[in-house]
Amino acid sequence: MIVVIDGPAGSGKSSTARAVAGRLEIQFLDSGALYRVATLIYLKAEKNKELFFELLKENKISFHFQDGTFIVYLNDTNVSDEIRTMEVSEHVSEVAAMPEVRSYVNILMHKAVEKNVYVADGRDLGTAVFPDAALKFFMVADLETRAQRRLAELQAKGSTASLEEVMKNIAARDEIDSSRSADPLKQADDAIEIDTSALSFEEQVSIICDQIKPLIAS
Ligand code: C5P
Repeated sequence: MIVVIDGPAGSGKSSTARAVAGRLEIQFLDSGALYRVATLIYLKAEKNKELFFELLKENKISFHFQDGTFIVYLNDTNVSDEIRTMEVSEHVSEVAAMPEVRSYVNILMHKAVEKNVYVADGRDLGTAVFPDAALKFFMVADLETRAQRRLAELQAKGSTASLEEVMKNIAARDEIDSSRSADPLKQADDAIEIDTSALSFEEQVSIICDQIKPLIAS
Protein backbone atom coordinates (compact mmCIF):
# COMPACT_ATOMS: atom_id res chain seq x y z
CA MET A 1 0.00 0.00 0.00
CA ILE A 2 1.25 3.48 -0.74
CA VAL A 3 0.29 6.91 0.59
CA VAL A 4 1.68 9.90 -1.31
CA ILE A 5 2.45 13.45 -0.26
CA ASP A 6 3.11 15.89 -3.08
CA GLY A 7 3.82 19.59 -2.99
CA PRO A 8 6.33 22.30 -3.86
CA ALA A 9 9.86 22.58 -2.39
CA GLY A 10 9.93 23.41 1.31
CA SER A 11 6.23 22.74 1.93
CA GLY A 12 7.29 20.27 4.63
CA LYS A 13 6.39 17.08 2.80
CA SER A 14 9.70 15.21 3.24
CA SER A 15 10.13 15.88 6.95
CA THR A 16 6.42 15.21 7.55
CA ALA A 17 6.45 11.97 5.55
CA ARG A 18 9.58 10.83 7.40
CA ALA A 19 7.97 11.52 10.79
CA VAL A 20 4.71 9.81 9.72
CA ALA A 21 6.69 6.73 8.65
CA GLY A 22 8.57 6.68 11.95
CA ARG A 23 5.41 7.03 14.02
CA LEU A 24 3.38 4.43 12.12
CA GLU A 25 6.38 2.13 11.61
CA ILE A 26 6.00 2.07 7.85
CA GLN A 27 8.55 2.70 5.07
CA PHE A 28 9.46 6.15 3.71
CA LEU A 29 10.45 6.96 0.14
CA ASP A 30 11.89 10.39 -0.74
CA SER A 31 11.51 10.64 -4.52
CA GLY A 32 13.27 14.03 -4.68
CA ALA A 33 16.40 12.38 -3.28
CA LEU A 34 16.46 10.01 -6.27
CA TYR A 35 16.29 12.95 -8.71
CA ARG A 36 19.10 14.52 -6.72
CA VAL A 37 21.32 11.43 -7.12
CA ALA A 38 20.60 11.48 -10.86
CA THR A 39 21.72 15.13 -10.77
CA LEU A 40 25.02 14.12 -9.14
CA ILE A 41 25.60 11.81 -12.09
CA TYR A 42 24.67 14.67 -14.47
CA LEU A 43 27.26 16.91 -12.79
CA LYS A 44 29.87 14.13 -12.95
CA ALA A 45 29.12 13.93 -16.68
CA GLU A 46 29.84 17.68 -16.83
CA LYS A 47 26.27 18.29 -18.08
CA ASN A 48 26.94 16.33 -21.26
CA LYS A 49 23.55 14.71 -21.87
CA GLU A 50 24.80 11.81 -23.96
CA LEU A 51 27.44 10.86 -21.38
CA PHE A 52 24.91 11.41 -18.59
CA PHE A 53 22.42 8.89 -20.06
CA GLU A 54 25.24 6.37 -20.46
CA LEU A 55 26.39 6.87 -16.86
CA LEU A 56 22.80 6.65 -15.64
CA LYS A 57 22.60 3.14 -17.13
CA GLU A 58 26.03 2.08 -15.80
CA ASN A 59 25.67 3.41 -12.24
CA LYS A 60 23.41 2.01 -9.58
CA ILE A 61 21.14 4.14 -7.41
CA SER A 62 19.81 2.42 -4.30
CA PHE A 63 18.23 3.53 -1.02
CA HIS A 64 16.79 2.43 2.26
CA PHE A 65 15.00 3.91 5.25
CA GLN A 66 16.65 3.11 8.54
CA ASP A 67 16.35 4.59 12.04
CA GLY A 68 14.32 7.53 10.72
CA THR A 69 16.80 8.38 7.96
CA PHE A 70 16.41 7.99 4.21
CA ILE A 71 19.82 6.93 2.91
CA VAL A 72 20.73 7.04 -0.77
CA TYR A 73 23.68 5.37 -2.44
CA LEU A 74 25.38 5.94 -5.74
CA ASN A 75 26.93 2.54 -6.36
CA ASP A 76 28.29 1.76 -2.87
CA THR A 77 28.82 5.32 -1.71
CA ASN A 78 26.41 6.99 0.70
CA VAL A 79 25.63 10.33 -1.04
CA SER A 80 22.84 11.46 1.32
CA ASP A 81 24.70 14.69 2.24
CA GLU A 82 26.24 15.34 -1.16
CA ILE A 83 22.79 15.52 -2.82
CA ARG A 84 21.71 18.45 -0.58
CA THR A 85 24.27 21.01 -1.78
CA MET A 86 23.15 24.23 -3.52
CA GLU A 87 24.94 23.05 -6.69
CA VAL A 88 22.68 19.99 -6.88
CA SER A 89 19.61 22.10 -6.01
CA GLU A 90 20.45 24.48 -8.83
CA HIS A 91 20.42 21.70 -11.45
CA VAL A 92 17.94 19.16 -10.12
CA SER A 93 14.81 20.59 -11.76
CA GLU A 94 16.53 20.69 -15.14
CA VAL A 95 17.49 17.01 -14.73
CA ALA A 96 14.05 16.02 -13.37
CA ALA A 97 12.40 17.57 -16.44
CA MET A 98 14.07 14.98 -18.71
CA PRO A 99 11.53 12.23 -19.59
CA GLU A 100 14.33 9.59 -19.62
CA VAL A 101 15.21 10.45 -16.02
CA ARG A 102 11.56 10.42 -14.93
CA SER A 103 10.97 6.93 -16.30
CA TYR A 104 14.23 5.70 -14.72
CA VAL A 105 13.22 7.04 -11.28
CA ASN A 106 9.63 5.82 -11.65
CA ILE A 107 10.82 2.26 -12.28
CA LEU A 108 13.07 2.43 -9.18
CA MET A 109 10.10 3.59 -7.09
CA HIS A 110 7.60 1.03 -8.40
CA LYS A 111 10.05 -1.79 -7.68
CA ALA A 112 10.62 -0.54 -4.14
CA VAL A 113 6.97 -0.32 -3.11
CA GLU A 114 5.97 -3.78 -4.33
CA LYS A 115 6.24 -4.98 -0.73
CA ASN A 116 5.43 -3.22 2.56
CA VAL A 117 3.44 -0.09 3.39
CA TYR A 118 5.00 3.15 2.16
CA VAL A 119 4.57 6.86 2.53
CA ALA A 120 6.34 8.67 -0.31
CA ASP A 121 6.83 12.34 -1.07
CA GLY A 122 7.33 14.10 -4.37
CA ARG A 123 5.78 16.32 -7.02
CA ASP A 124 3.85 14.04 -9.35
CA LEU A 125 3.27 10.93 -7.26
CA GLY A 126 -0.51 11.32 -6.94
CA THR A 127 -1.01 12.31 -10.57
CA ALA A 128 1.53 10.36 -12.62
CA VAL A 129 3.47 7.74 -10.64
CA PHE A 130 0.91 6.27 -8.23
CA PRO A 131 -2.50 7.45 -9.47
CA ASP A 132 -4.10 4.60 -7.48
CA ALA A 133 -2.42 5.49 -4.17
CA ALA A 134 -4.51 4.60 -1.11
CA LEU A 135 -4.39 8.21 0.09
CA LYS A 136 -3.05 11.41 -1.47
CA PHE A 137 -2.02 14.63 0.25
CA PHE A 138 -0.89 17.90 -1.30
CA MET A 139 1.06 20.17 1.03
CA VAL A 140 1.38 23.90 0.40
CA ALA A 141 2.90 26.89 2.25
CA ASP A 142 3.80 30.44 1.26
CA LEU A 143 7.20 31.02 -0.43
CA GLU A 144 8.92 32.77 2.49
CA THR A 145 7.88 30.10 5.00
CA ARG A 146 9.20 27.42 2.65
CA ALA A 147 12.49 29.26 2.08
CA GLN A 148 12.99 29.78 5.84
CA ARG A 149 12.59 26.02 6.39
CA ARG A 150 15.08 25.12 3.66
CA LEU A 151 17.53 27.74 4.93
CA ALA A 152 17.40 26.26 8.44
CA GLU A 153 18.13 22.80 6.98
CA LEU A 154 21.05 24.14 4.94
CA GLN A 155 22.48 26.11 7.88
CA ALA A 156 22.31 23.02 10.07
CA LYS A 157 24.59 21.38 7.50
CA GLY A 158 27.02 24.32 7.62
CA SER A 159 25.89 26.11 4.43
CA THR A 160 26.26 29.90 4.26
CA ALA A 161 23.46 30.37 1.68
CA SER A 162 21.28 33.49 2.22
CA LEU A 163 17.48 33.61 2.53
CA GLU A 164 17.34 35.53 -0.76
CA GLU A 165 19.36 32.86 -2.56
CA VAL A 166 17.16 30.07 -1.20
CA MET A 167 13.94 31.96 -2.09
CA LYS A 168 15.21 32.46 -5.63
CA ASN A 169 16.14 28.79 -5.97
CA ILE A 170 12.77 27.60 -4.65
CA ALA A 171 10.81 30.01 -6.88
CA ALA A 172 12.84 28.92 -9.92
CA ARG A 173 12.31 25.23 -9.14
CA ASP A 174 8.55 25.77 -8.60
CA GLU A 175 8.39 27.40 -12.01
CA ILE A 176 10.27 24.60 -13.83
CA ASP A 177 8.50 21.83 -11.87
CA SER A 178 5.01 23.25 -12.58
CA SER A 179 5.50 24.14 -16.22
CA ARG A 180 7.48 21.15 -17.56
CA SER A 181 5.65 18.93 -20.03
CA ALA A 182 6.77 15.64 -18.40
CA ASP A 183 4.64 15.00 -15.29
CA PRO A 184 4.49 18.52 -13.83
CA LEU A 185 3.97 19.38 -10.17
CA LYS A 186 0.19 19.33 -9.89
CA GLN A 187 -2.40 18.62 -7.23
CA ALA A 188 -4.36 15.42 -7.95
CA ASP A 189 -8.14 15.94 -8.03
CA ASP A 190 -8.55 13.45 -5.20
CA ALA A 191 -5.71 14.80 -3.02
CA ILE A 192 -6.35 16.30 0.41
CA GLU A 193 -4.76 19.78 0.52
CA ILE A 194 -2.90 20.75 3.69
CA ASP A 195 -1.66 24.34 4.04
CA THR A 196 1.24 24.12 6.48
CA SER A 197 1.99 27.88 6.69
CA ALA A 198 0.22 28.18 10.03
CA LEU A 199 0.47 24.60 11.28
CA SER A 200 3.01 23.28 13.73
CA PHE A 201 5.07 20.30 12.61
CA GLU A 202 3.31 18.13 15.17
CA GLU A 203 -0.10 19.17 13.77
CA GLN A 204 0.92 18.30 10.19
CA VAL A 205 2.14 14.88 11.23
CA SER A 206 -0.96 14.12 13.32
CA ILE A 207 -3.42 15.14 10.57
CA ILE A 208 -1.79 12.69 8.16
CA CYS A 209 -1.28 9.87 10.69
CA ASP A 210 -4.94 10.05 11.70
CA GLN A 211 -6.01 9.46 8.10
CA ILE A 212 -3.58 6.60 7.46
CA LYS A 213 -4.14 4.65 10.69
CA PRO A 214 -7.56 3.19 9.76
CA LEU A 215 -6.14 1.96 6.43
CA ILE A 216 -3.27 0.12 8.11
CA ALA A 217 -5.61 -1.39 10.68
CA SER A 218 -8.02 -2.76 8.05
O1 C5P B 1 11.93 17.14 -2.80
P1 C5P B 1 13.18 17.84 -3.30
O2 C5P B 1 13.11 19.33 -3.18
O3 C5P B 1 14.43 17.25 -2.75
O4 C5P B 1 13.19 17.51 -4.86
C1 C5P B 1 14.23 17.95 -5.70
C2 C5P B 1 13.70 18.18 -7.11
O5 C5P B 1 13.38 16.91 -7.70
C3 C5P B 1 12.43 19.01 -7.26
O6 C5P B 1 12.68 20.41 -7.31
C4 C5P B 1 11.89 18.52 -8.58
O7 C5P B 1 12.52 19.18 -9.65
C5 C5P B 1 12.31 17.07 -8.61
N1 C5P B 1 11.23 16.14 -8.27
C6 C5P B 1 10.36 15.78 -9.26
N2 C5P B 1 9.40 14.84 -9.03
C7 C5P B 1 9.31 14.27 -7.82
C8 C5P B 1 10.17 14.64 -6.78
C9 C5P B 1 11.14 15.61 -7.03
O8 C5P B 1 10.43 16.31 -10.37
N3 C5P B 1 8.38 13.31 -7.63
